[in-house]
Amino acid sequence: MSAPSAVVVVGASAAGLAVAETLRRERFDGRITLIGEEPELPYDRPPLSKEILSGRWQADRARLRDPAAVDRLGLDLRLGTSAESVDQAARRVLLADGTVVGYEELVITTGVRARRLPGIEGVAGVHVLRTLADVAALRVALSTKPRLVIVGAGFLGAEAASVAVQAGAEVSLVSDLDAPLADVLGPELGAGLVDLHRDHGVEVLTGVKVAEIVTEGARATGVRLVDGRTVTADAVLMAIGSVPNTEWLAGSGIPTDNGVLCDEYCRAAPHVWAAGDVANWFHRGLSERVRIEHRTNAGEQGMAVARNILSAGRPTAFQPVPYIWSDQYDRKIQIYGLPRGADRFAVTKGSIVDRELLALYGKNGTVRAAVGINMNRALRSARQFLVTPTPWEAGTA
Ligand SMILES: Cc1cc2nc3c(=O)[nH]c(=O)nc-3n(C[C@H](O)[C@H](O)[C@H](O)COP(=O)(O)OP(=O)(O)OC[C@H]3O[C@@H](n4cnc5c(N)ncnc54)[C@H](O)[C@@H]3O)c2cc1C
Repeated sequence: MSAPSAVVVVGASAAGLAVAETLRRERFDGRITLIGEEPELPYDRPPLSKEILSGRWQADRARLRDPAAVDRLGLDLRLGTSAESVDQAARRVLLADGTVVGYEELVITTGVRARRLPGIEGVAGVHVLRTLADVAALRVALSTKPRLVIVGAGFLGAEAASVAVQAGAEVSLVSDLDAPLADVLGPELGAGLVDLHRDHGVEVLTGVKVAEIVTEGARATGVRLVDGRTVTADAVLMAIGSVPNTEWLAGSGIPTDNGVLCDEYCRAAPHVWAAGDVANWFHRGLSERVRIEHRTNAGEQGMAVARNILSAGRPTAFQPVPYIWSDQYDRKIQIYGLPRGADRFAVTKGSIVDRELLALYGKNGTVRAAVGINMNRALRSARQFLVTPTPWEAGTA
């Protein structure tokens, strides 16, 4: 089986760039077409809710590579235009600008977009946080030290709350869960994070859903909660999760369901692959399908797909130890593995009260995840428990 001569990558962000760079590093000298809807060169999203929102970095520091480094890859780069459909039989992608690009191998790295409540189109003062344009708009709002309501207290909402309150905003964080992030980290650490935000002056409203955005003359003036309360605000940030960008694949025959459905090699169909936030693949080590919306995975999966494309028909299963981090105030939360669904929890070093700890999560008698809060070194050692299946008793001894 010979190497392909033309690879098309749709989605020019962390995963897409990793595919292109790895192909070149592995000495692929055919055509690589990288198609991106956004006009900017590929940039990194984690700094958007941290260094860029706080103003510590200018926007161009988020670039994943400088223009000269992108040039050296010798790409057929199509930015500011989106892919609209795929013809699998003819192996062609149709772009919004009317052009058609042929491929031998196609990689889908179209990521996700911010989920929005219906009925907020055209309402001023309602924000999401996914792109450079989003963060620019939110920074303008923060410069007036507004009353800010953040709807959704996952990592994104919690990070934005920590930056906004430190920038002088009056922040309310609304979560439909009893403790923010309890769905990911469990109730114990979830409760600890509520205290962290309250201690910094954030009003945290838990266990309550938002019924609607309240508006006055097409401008948001707050949110109404399902229990009848209204939280007034000058600006609203919706941080209620995301939607995989797969609509453009409708009718192509490429399977989608909560992302692009792939096998353990990240292959969705003959000559079609997916990587990054949009990929829903079978993780052999975890024996389940996963779709991971985190930065490290996007890079690693992009690299894995590039190598599988060049593997001459002998692909390798992609089964990483998932890694996530989040910065809130002066705390760095890091996670190896998937704590969600664990049936055991133990703090093995430090304490929740001190907000400095190592916690292990177990399922079916083995260690399933490790979480560190400001606990770098111990967490790195605990990663070993995820690389080789480790009995719960041995991990917590
Ligand atoms: C504000 C913020 C903070 C984050 N912080 C962290 C963090 O602290 N730690 C962490 O682990 N992760 C974090 N993440 C998640 C991380 O950024 C993502 O996992 C990563 O960006 C995924 O990369 P990706 O390339 O798969 O997708 P994306 O970055 O979503 O990129 C997909 C690209 O495809 C483009 N596209 C979509 N449809 C089409 C189409 N039809 N044609 C052409 N182009 C298309 C999109 O415009 C986009 O540019 C954060 C995300 C955000 C938004």
